[in-house]
Amino acid sequence: MRFANLQGRAVLVVRADDGTDRAVDVERASDGRLGSDPAVYVDLANHALLGEIAASVSANDAPALDPALLGAPVPRPPKGLGVGLNYRTHAIESGREFPTEPHFFGKTNNCVAGPFDDVIAPAGRHEIDFEAEVVIAFGRTCKGATEADAWSYLAGVTCGQDISDRGEQFRLPIKQFTIAKSYDTFGPTGPFLVTPDEFPDRDALALTGVVSGEVMQEANTSDLIFSIPSLVAWLTRFMTFGPGDLVWTGTPGGVGEARTPQRFLVDGDVIETTVSGVGTMRNRVVVR
Ligand code: ZN
Repeated sequence: MRFANLQGRAVLVVRADDGTDRAVDVERASDGRLGSDPAVYVDLANHALLGEIAASVSANDAPALDPALLGAPVPRPPKGLGVGLNYRTHAIESGREFPTEPHFFGKTNNCVAGPFDDVIAPAGRHEIDFEAEVVIAFGRTCKGATEADAWSYLAGVTCGQDISDRGEQFRLPIKQFTIAKSYDTFGPTGPFLVTPDEFPDRDALALTGVVSGEVMQEANTSDLIFSIPSLVAWLTRFMTFGPGDLVWTGTPGGVGEARTPQRFLVDGDVIETTVSGVGTMRNRVVVR
């Protein structure tokens, strides 16, 4: 199943015979058994009923989905974390050893933005960088997951950007990763939350990052140093996760900071982020 946040309401996204995406309002289609808040589809407890609705609706009769009206699929994650250096290509370009365990930082929920929202780059900050990522959303209470059962805790996958102010991220004496990656709008996600069963291989998701028409990043989650299941197992050793918690799973090589010459985001840039089977986010950069 594919889910979206359409002007604050939970919708099931279905494909009509003409190939277009249509939006089925979850509250109406469930006759009120499920609410309208997007939180309903990140809760795996609701997926059986959502599956019944998906199987019974007539996609051709559902209204067209207007992408411009989409918000973040999980607009208010209870918590968000990101992982640094999780693709070999990014470790190499950063001049670092391959990590032996994942390094996490926070992405606080104020940074979450929609799939077509503007990314606001604060005026006077000149090292704002892009990081295309696959983002996972937990769907039920999870503590002490194993790699083998990790996927069973996840409600879905979406596209993400882990926008980063490199100047702040690496400013000495304290490298403020969490702050530098959590400015307002620095965590666009979307356009859809897609359940893991929709993918031919949920451990091999193609990821592409494009800035103003130039392909900057291309990778596949099969190249992750720490796979999605291993990240889930590692994180839930000590911390309990629950429905709507998000994890940005790392960015591949090709970020602006590591390019020669460096390529930081400027006013008017358009960042396009694609995950195979999920779709494409398009975020304009606005300096303000
Ligand atoms: Zn990142």
